[in-house]
Amino acid sequence: MTLNPAPNSFRTGPDERGRFGIFGGRFVAETLMPLILDLEKAYADAKADPSFKADMESYGTHYIGRPSPLYYAERLTEHLRAQAPAGQGAKIFFKREELNHTGSHKVNNVLGQILLARRMGKPRIIAETGAGQHGVATATLCARFGLKCVVYMGAVDVERQAPNVFRMKMLGAEVIPVQSGTRTLKDAMNEALRDWVTNVSDTFYCIGTVAGPHPYPAMVRDFQSVIGIETKQQMLEMEGRLPDSLIACIGGGSNAMGLFHPFLDDRDVEIYGVEAAGHGVQSGLHAASLTGGRPGVLHGNRTYLLMNEDGQIADAHSISAGLDYPGIGPEHAWLHEMGRVTYLSATDAETLEAFKLCSMLEGIIPALEPAHALSKVMELAPTKPAEHLMVLNLSGRGDKDIPQVAQIFGQTL
Ligand SMILES: *Cc1c(COP(=O)(O)O)cnc(C)c1O
Repeated sequence: MTLNPAPNSFRTGPDERGRFGIFGGRFVAETLMPLILDLEKAYADAKADPSFKADMESYGTHYIGRPSPLYYAERLTEHLRAQAPAGQGAKIFFKREELNHTGSHKVNNVLGQILLARRMGKPRIIAETGAGQHGVATATLCARFGLKCVVYMGAVDVERQAPNVFRMKMLGAEVIPVQSGTRTLKDAMNEALRDWVTNVSDTFYCIGTVAGPHPYPAMVRDFQSVIGIETKQQMLEMEGRLPDSLIACIGGGSNAMGLFHPFLDDRDVEIYGVEAAGHGVQSGLHAASLTGGRPGVLHGNRTYLLMNEDGQIADAHSISAGLDYPGIGPEHAWLHEMGRVTYLSATDAETLEAFKLCSMLEGIIPALEPAHALSKVMELAPTKPAEHLMVLNLSGRGDKDIPQVAQIFGQTL
């Protein structure tokens, strides 16, 4: 769907009010505004400071383990070629963000925000978490830099994700179960925003995805863009040219924005985002905000949301707690309307098939989140010519999902 004429560049947003077209912005209480403006200024200063960049690179290398490899998934490629017409079947690569310290891409963003909090002299860090991956990454960096860490987590998720709750506590964080609303991620984010306005002087709010009020969506995207920048370099080294397509799963959309953003103006590169279709978009039990939602305002920005007829935020459903968010980052909403990125969705069942296949063929157990994107690789790759280079963002490892998958497959551990 192309509603607008293509702009000269897809990489210039947001504008000074934090808008990507009609999306984004900062719809926040008056009391929050000074904090948001402080943050915006501190981030602009940090961006212009070479020592901030040097710290990002140094900790990125020695603490997180960057760069992550770009890996040719040879057996998966051959497996899908065997099902494709002669001469077809894309060459598939994994950008291996699951090898980062703490097991996912989340830590790239947390490192940036924690270094920023230190510059701003904020000793107390708060975060929201759903599955617990962002909470664990935040607790980890807080331990490393000796900062107090408070993580808000819906009470339902606290029960579903017990191992990550224990991890956060081991790392010295306080985990606060949120009892309001549906007691899941969106409620945890509400509670964290409330904490922030109450503790203005000493607290930094570390948001886990490309959502929230401006400058978060752009700032988190910038911190995650290391994924796409490395991919570009690595593909040039390996194949002597850019990839033909990129594909990533979408919860709030940070791992996807990180991979996509450096390529947005390379117009020959096809870009696919994959939302969680749960039991199917028609069933109503899903988390596909672009495919099955409409524009509204939540958590300080305008974007596509899952809503009921009264405009109340509807529950998201996904097999993967990390995709279980009723919104999507505003830049994705804009890229969707501009037609630059194609948004697909994958059901729970398709995801489990991809999860099994990746484990068996590549010896890599993926998180359920990127397994959504992988299921669309399985559909798309056989339709492309053999010289087509396709990059999947393998955003996290599957260890955290083993108990859940074992239960689904009817096995006890
Ligand atoms: C949190 C998470 C996601 C979803 O978040 P995005 O902001 O959409 O990237 C995807 N993959 C993994 C492994 C995660 O932990």
